[in-house]
Amino acid sequence: MKIFCIGRNYAEHAKELGNAVPDEPVVFMKPKNALLQPHMPFYYPEFTNELHYECELVLRVCKNGKYIQPQAASRYYDAVTTGIDFTARDLQQELKKKGLPWEKAKSWDNSAVVGTWIPFGEIPSAADIRFSFKKNGELVQQGNSAEMIHSFDTIVAHISQYFSVNIGDLIFTGTPAGVGEVVVGDELEAFLGEKSLLKLEVK
Ligand code: MG
Repeated sequence: MKIFCIGRNYAEHAKELGNAVPDEPVVFMKPKNALLQPHMPFYYPEFTNELHYECELVLRVCKNGKYIQPQAASRYYDAVTTGIDFTARDLQQELKKKGLPWEKAKSWDNSAVVGTWIPFGEIPSAADIRFSFKKNGELVQQGNSAEMIHSFDTIVAHISQYFSVNIGDLIFTGTPAGVGEVVVGDELEAFLGEKSLLKLEVK
């Protein structure tokens, strides 16, 4: 199992971090151990002083493929949920400045959290999925798949030109504006529409 992540997929978020809006998807990966297992606590890592949440729509891959055409891409994912791409922002800024890879800032153990899966059969339109994120009960992020620079199908097709996608792989599709810091004791909750799919306390 692999975790693909897309960076800078919402124009407002690219802007808030001072990044250009990319022509093609920005892809990075997290290893299997990055996935927080169900019912396990999430601990604030020791190597950062600036841990950020990034709430994102996450796709679940249901079919093995390579060189997938955009028109066929929707057959390769069958469920969606909300997730958190946890980021050690201080480390990431340092690495970016030096032109170094992001893994230490993005891909550490338990840095990827996903909520309850919703089958696409229950979703009226993949191009109009509203989601939101609350920190300590306060709304801090909201997004809609309609606002993504690269659609689900474009992302899947693009990734598959470089990497095989396999059943069980996850794809984090990018975060909207409003990313911010978390501290120990924060309560985080992510929603698809009105439905709460993910709840987590930072320990
Ligand atoms: Mg992200």
